[in-house]
Amino acid sequence: MSRLSAIRIFRKFFTLALIFGALFSFAVFAAGEAGWENPLRVHFIDVGQGDCSLVQCPNGTAILVDGGRIWTYPFLIDYLKNAGVEKIDLLVLSHPHGDHFGGLIKVLKEFPVAVILDSGKDDTGEHYQRFLETVKSRTEVDFKLARAGDRFTFGEVKMLVIHPSSRLPATVNNSSIIFKLTYGDSDFLFTGDAEMEAEAEAMSRGFNLRSEVLKVGHHGSRTSTGPAFLSRASPRWAVIPAGENNSYGHPHPEVTRRLKMRGTKIYQTGTEGTVLFLSNGKDLRVELPGRAVYPEYAIPEEQASRIIANRETLIYYDPHSPYVVQIPPEDRVVFDTAVAAETAGYRRNWW
Ligand SMILES: [Zn+2]
Repeated sequence: MSRLSAIRIFRKFFTLALIFGALFSFAVFAAGEAGWENPLRVHFIDVGQGDCSLVQCPNGTAILVDGGRIWTYPFLIDYLKNAGVEKIDLLVLSHPHGDHFGGLIKVLKEFPVAVILDSGKDDTGEHYQRFLETVKSRTEVDFKLARAGDRFTFGEVKMLVIHPSSRLPATVNNSSIIFKLTYGDSDFLFTGDAEMEAEAEAMSRGFNLRSEVLKVGHHGSRTSTGPAFLSRASPRWAVIPAGENNSYGHPHPEVTRRLKMRGTKIYQTGTEGTVLFLSNGKDLRVELPGRAVYPEYAIPEEQASRIIANRETLIYYDPHSPYVVQIPPEDRVVFDTAVAAETAGYRRNWW
């Protein structure tokens, strides 16, 4: 072989190697990027001291898990609409406490809801009864009880109910629905306000609890997220739905210590705002779109010095309260005195 033809062959080989190299790099890039144009979106929404998550599946299914306290509704409804939600395919109420179902009363009036998944735990509280009345008024809603082992499928997203069983624990918190949501390699564990008793029951059922993302139980209270449960879930990320400087001291330092010891990255919704996870079924990305911003409405001059109440929340406020501007005008009711507001069934606080 002449020296010239050897150079030619080398050149050809070199060119081919370059082309293959470029194709290979593109294939690797494309595989890494696959699914990002339509990912699974899991929003842990900043609702202050409360709990609320929105799941948007790649096939368009919208799942709302809890809805914060009752006065969060103007923000929550805005948030859902901005996220592109037009109907709620599945509404999960983890347990009947006001920091979980409060905002859902108005959500049920504003959005078509196909299915409600409930723990079946009752609560005699007046406001929970209001929630149930609203549910009953929406006759098209399919009301189901979540029981361990129940499985649901939304396109490629799968949901497995881990707790409770039909034998409900004595306390409301321990009756919380615990479920795992899976999209490819991405698993999310939702726990409501489950405490260690519920965690122990959940573990005894033998399900695989391993999850990349854990919605920490009971706002990071020391009653929850026990070492054994944490070890079974083994999360890489943990989201604690707790308000900034809340009166409960949530999250408790024992819980954050346990998480940090495992190297789990912690987000707290009340301080970092909403935490949004995106998954293409392989990898997870985290975004922090910001703290909750509540819409504000002008108060007409003739109402400015009167007692202003909200017919949705049944709360009334002094004229100078910073919260009166957050009442949508259509929900605003005015009274001359606090006594008149009380007589009409309004109160100063709500739980
Ligand atoms: Zn709670």
